[in-house]
Amino acid sequence: MKKYLFYLLAFVFVVFILPIICTTSLEGKEIVANAPNSTNMESDTDQTENNGEQIQNFDENYLKYQTIRLLHTKTGEIEELPMDEYLYGVVAAEMPASYDVEALKAQAIVARTYTIYQAMHSIGKHENADICDDYGCCQAWISKEERFASWNPSEAEANWQKIVDCVNATTGKIITYNGEPINAFFHSNSGGITETSLNIWGGIDYPYLKSVETSGENGYTQYSSEVIMSKEELENKMKEKYSDFKIDFSDSNCIQILEYTSSNRVKTIKIGNKEIAGTEARTILGLKSTNFKFSFDGNQFIFSVIGNGHGVGMSQTGADSMAKSGSNYEEIIKHFYTGVEIK
Ligand SMILES: [Zn+2]
Repeated sequence: MKKYLFYLLAFVFVVFILPIICTTSLEGKEIVANAPNSTNMESDTDQTENNGEQIQNFDENYLKYQTIRLLHTKTGEIEELPMDEYLYGVVAAEMPASYDVEALKAQAIVARTYTIYQAMHSIGKHENADICDDYGCCQAWISKEERFASWNPSEAEANWQKIVDCVNATTGKIITYNGEPINAFFHSNSGGITETSLNIWGGIDYPYLKSVETSGENGYTQYSSEVIMSKEELENKMKEKYSDFKIDFSDSNCIQILEYTSSNRVKTIKIGNKEIAGTEARTILGLKSTNFKFSFDGNQFIFSVIGNGHGVGMSQTGADSMAKSGSNYEEIIKHFYTGVEIK
């Protein structure tokens, strides 16, 4: 009886249970075997498609900005201009025509890149416009007529033609990092060393906006400046911003620089009862940059300032200095923006 029971169980095992075990394990193997392949394939396909899409979008965006909608801040009028025609007015407003052609070309590429970056990333900043003509908001722009009015008439035509030729020589060229247009900040004079964007604005630490040194910037009038201010003037300026501002001028430490950035700019400063950022002190006191020292003779403060502008990205006088020493626009751009490409 036991023998029959054994055969019966063996028969059930072989006929019904064994096939189930085999099928399950094979299916399991198939799943395991297929999983990595399909994941890889999907992943490869995704990457290719994504990259393709990104490149395609980038090209489309780039082409889209061949015409710029410029907001004239004084009149509120929006003017549509072909990109290079718009850039004639930007370069004319932002850089002296007397600068070396390689510096002007670098400025044209920087301005084109900045414009495209703004247009791509600042959607809604200006309604129905890509960019405005206010240098404090976007970047400066001047019409040919206005520019001519401020030039010596005998040089005006040649100056304008020099700018037009430099912009035209760079048509279509922009600065990219990882294939994307960079946020191409620029300023007047770095005082010999530029600043990281992080130290000035916080937020994003753009990998291409690092601190770099440039020689020759001390040869320009923008290199140094001085602001002299009476005790009362300083107090009033601070009170305009902080109504509870207090200061005891008999205290020799009534103004104290607390911290410098790695490029020797003022990071934090204590003025009276207020501890503020160097950038804020620059705005309140009307200084050309955050690279400053001060002295006090009991009646007035003397602020001695090095450089002109925020110090981030390309220095215009630095660009001209490099160009006059033989650098071309590509070398200038790659000096001020770390790890970038021009395409
Ligand atoms: Zn603007």
